[in-house]
Amino acid sequence: MSFPQNLHTHTVFSDGKNTPEEMVLGALQAGCASLAFSDHSPMSPAADPDGWSMNPEKVPAYRAEIIRLREAYAGKLEIFLGLEQDIDSPPPAEEWDCLIGSVHGVWAGGCYLPVDESADAFDRAVREYFSGDCLAFARAYYRREAEAAGKTGCDIVGHFDLITKFNENGCRFDESDPRYRSAALEALEALMEKDVIFEINTGAISRGCRTTPYPAPFLLDAIRQKGGRVCITSDSHRADTIVHAFPQAAALAGSCGFREAWVLAKKGFQPVDLQA
Ligand SMILES: [Zn+2]
Ligand SMILES: [Zn+2]
Repeated sequence: MSFPQNLHTHTVFSDGKNTPEEMVLGALQAGCASLAFSDHSPMSPAADPDGWSMNPEKVPAYRAEIIRLREAYAGKLEIFLGLEQDIDSPPPAEEWDCLIGSVHGVWAGGCYLPVDESADAFDRAVREYFSGDCLAFARAYYRREAEAAGKTGCDIVGHFDLITKFNENGCRFDESDPRYRSAALEALEALMEKDVIFEINTGAISRGCRTTPYPAPFLLDAIRQKGGRVCITSDSHRADTIVHAFPQAAALAGSCGFREAWVLAKKGFQPVDLQA
């Protein structure tokens, strides 16, 4: 199994910009030997009024198209059929090669408050539902994050500290605050018990929201100290960002003491040397 491999890939079946085949061609152009698709699992209209998740009626066509591509590109690109399984989605009825378990928002007063939609939506949620206290919003997020693996049955935890998407350089809250760190580390501890892989996700870099990947170094340090595993993903929504900032993510992993990252092969997840 060679590196790089991207396990977090969106297409027009959810909120990606390109078709699955365009993503395959993008992966080949980027030098990948394998690629996993992970479009957003179907969500209820209450949580997703804008329709960024997959329409449940499209799931069979999504599966058929990825399987068609797997056969069409056999020998050139190893293709895996996955899903980004949201904590608010019903459990998947089908078998998937790989599930990424993600939390994209919290519920308050019967309303769904996305943490990653926009800086404006983030600020409005904090103002209207958390009395202006960003850390209270973050703590509500991590209470859900702690349950991400148990509720989704995922192999990989998606963008663990997504709540920091609009907090570059601590512009909204202090990520060294003990209230913040204790909530994040408690969620991390709960997820470690499920033996999931944490992704080092560069998606917010390619979308211009951040200059560094998720998770923050203090969280990666904690994952490594507890013997946890990481993979590198781009959360790509476009064919030209499939390995975006992978060297930066690998360097971050190395600086936090990781020697290897995990990739998916036919026989399951395998470690690869980050220096290779
Ligand atoms: Zn996500
Ligand atoms: Zn995603």
